[in-house]
Amino acid sequence: MPSASLWLRDFLDLFSPRHCAVCGERLNATERELCGSCLLELPYVACADFYDNPAARRLWENVPVERAHSLFYYRPDSDSHLLLVRLKYEHRPELGRWAGRFMADTLLPYGFFDGVEAIVAVPLHWRRQWQRGYNQSLLLARGISEVTGLPVLRGWVRRVRNNETQTHKSPAERIRNVENLFRSRPGMPCRHVLLVDDVLTTGATLTACARAMVAANPHLRISVLTLARP
Ligand SMILES: [Zn+2]
Repeated sequence: MPSASLWLRDFLDLFSPRHCAVCGERLNATERELCGSCLLELPYVACADFYDNPAARRLWENVPVERAHSLFYYRPDSDSHLLLVRLKYEHRPELGRWAGRFMADTLLPYGFFDGVEAIVAVPLHWRRQWQRGYNQSLLLARGISEVTGLPVLRGWVRRVRNNETQTHKSPAERIRNVENLFRSRPGMPCRHVLLVDDVLTTGATLTACARAMVAANPHLRISVLTLARP
């Protein structure tokens, strides 16, 4: 960041201090959303093998997926959990774009985006999006787009039922619960899409979304990126 911008942020921080989204400590001029130590302590998933890993394997069973990765492990008693709570339930949309940029900055040197032509965010049902005020996955997608220059495609897949909360369902119930959850239309103007969501748990929702896209666009190759996974 140019020193003039840092100076300006320092100056603005005097009147309106910014705080870490996880620990609440005051941020310095070079920090964005999370302080340096919280950022360092997130339980990151190693960027080892994007083709064969637990995230990819969860999706393989039902849909052909090229690459899959999640930035960090989701642990209910940890800071990574707090970050997701703030993003989804405490109206912190700026965290979504920041996290998207951070994911892209982290993965770009590993070639994760090589050959990907566009980004699609897993859509929310319109009622859920209206209640929350935004789709956190779309914010992540926009952040990724800002770093990679890849376009974000919208309107090609939609969620036709509102079933976002799957927390208390068994894996089998989750699979049944997402049948025909999404609808996609043919003619997607690309061959390799990066599908983005906030959390990959059983993979049921991502699988349902990817299946709908491939059913309407059989030529499509899909890679998957989420902020977190168990
Ligand atoms: Zn912190």
